[in-house]
Amino acid sequence: MSSYISDTINYLKQSSPAQAEFYQATEEVLATIKPLLDRNPKYRKHNIIQRVIEPERQILFRVAWLDDRGNVQVNKGYRIQFNSALGPYKGGLRFHPNVTAGTIKFLGFEQIFKNSLTGLAIGGAKGGSNFDPKGKSDAEIMRFCQSFMTELFRHIGDTIDVPAGDIGVGGREIGYLYGQYKRLTGSYEGVLTGKGLNWGGSLARTEATGYGAVYFAQNMLAERGASLEGKVCTVSGSGNVSIYTVEKLYQVGAKPVTVSDSNGMIYDERGIDLNLLKRVKEVERARLTRYAEERPGAVYTPVENYPAGRNGVWSVHCDAAFPSATQNEVSVEDAKELLKNGCICVAEGANMPSSPEAIDAFLASGIAYGPAKAANAGGVATSQLEMSQNASMLQWTFEEVDAKLQRIMEHIYRTASETAKEYGAPGNLVLGANIAGFRKVADAMIDQGVV
Ligand code: NAP
Repeated sequence: MSSYISDTINYLKQSSPAQAEFYQATEEVLATIKPLLDRNPKYRKHNIIQRVIEPERQILFRVAWLDDRGNVQVNKGYRIQFNSALGPYKGGLRFHPNVTAGTIKFLGFEQIFKNSLTGLAIGGAKGGSNFDPKGKSDAEIMRFCQSFMTELFRHIGDTIDVPAGDIGVGGREIGYLYGQYKRLTGSYEGVLTGKGLNWGGSLARTEATGYGAVYFAQNMLAERGASLEGKVCTVSGSGNVSIYTVEKLYQVGAKPVTVSDSNGMIYDERGIDLNLLKRVKEVERARLTRYAEERPGAVYTPVENYPAGRNGVWSVHCDAAFPSATQNEVSVEDAKELLKNGCICVAEGANMPSSPEAIDAFLASGIAYGPAKAANAGGVATSQLEMSQNASMLQWTFEEVDAKLQRIMEHIYRTASETAKEYGAPGNLVLGANIAGFRKVADAMIDQGVV
């Protein structure tokens, strides 16, 4: 490992202890930008590495709320405003019991370079809470969101910081957060994205991350003279990203055969029943066991029966895989299994779903591998399109937004692919995406002086 990487990671371990996911994300970026640093001494001269790994601002707060029985509950709230060199802070909110400062920091760090890659004017941030929305009533979710926003509102604004959804934060939560922001500030502004369609939301935002991941896979395959048509695909997760990945896969003639949640997975050989999946997950907010009960022929495997140390989804034979649930859900053993079974394409809908060793295995195999920063950037890009519509008080049609999304995904693919070639690593989109994303942010930081 180069000394600047080990020095930086050692420094982080001392200054920000117990943030393993943040070290993982940092190490991946630092390892791949070495050729850029070697060619351009200005980045070292301006101490960009030490500046870019330090968030501009970290807001940690208490979220106290009353449950339905009148008991006082307390959770942690976070907003990490990482980098504003390219525009207002932008990035989602995650509500999940596993959330720690390290989780939010890794997500915020990744977001800086992802947002840069989109070519749009947005800085990087992330936020959330260790609140678990599962099993809570609508009223409890509302009270929690109101309490969360009662602190957050003073730190955000439509040209300052514009949060969006992520795991555990969908249209319902964005609605409650928005209502409280409006009550506290009296301002009807585009301060959150993922809003409802009749109160400032953008058509195609809900679909954007999943659709974008499929568009990205199409771009990777087209350059290799292949396509998704007729291909068997595996998808993990069954939330926002997964559902619209499944939908788009059908639209391009592929067959998605799996989905999963944190309790287990579905293998549906005939192809996932999209309408049933949407009803179970979006309307009934039920578990995937409900899907299996209603769909003859679908096989449900609980997590306890997965092969030891592995994710069962990646044992299913497929041509293309779409990890769309959470970080580190593809181990090196999973990667080897996918490759052994003939998988030729991996497009990451989730953030950092593959372990470093799994990424190495994909890159060494030469398959089409689309890293998260590039492949799932369609969500944040469309959030920026929502901000544009709010600022101009217009609403574009679904077709207009979708066409822009397709162009953005192609632009991201070209940028990552051409940058990889420029730095002597054709096909290595990890290196291409990291260098292209980093370079733009670093140059803007230099232009804006020591701030
Ligand atoms: P979501 O709607 O809340 O769905 C998350 C899905 O992943 C659920 O099926 C959930 O299962 C599963 N999951 C979550 N944590 C898990 C764990 N520890 N182990 C196994 N399964 C787990 O969230 P989402 O918006 O689809 O986000 C999914 C991924 O995409 C995340 O990595 C997120 O950062 C990334 N992403 C999202 C967007 C976006 O626009 N939403 C954009 C870019 C990237 P349970 O229901 O059992 O928890």
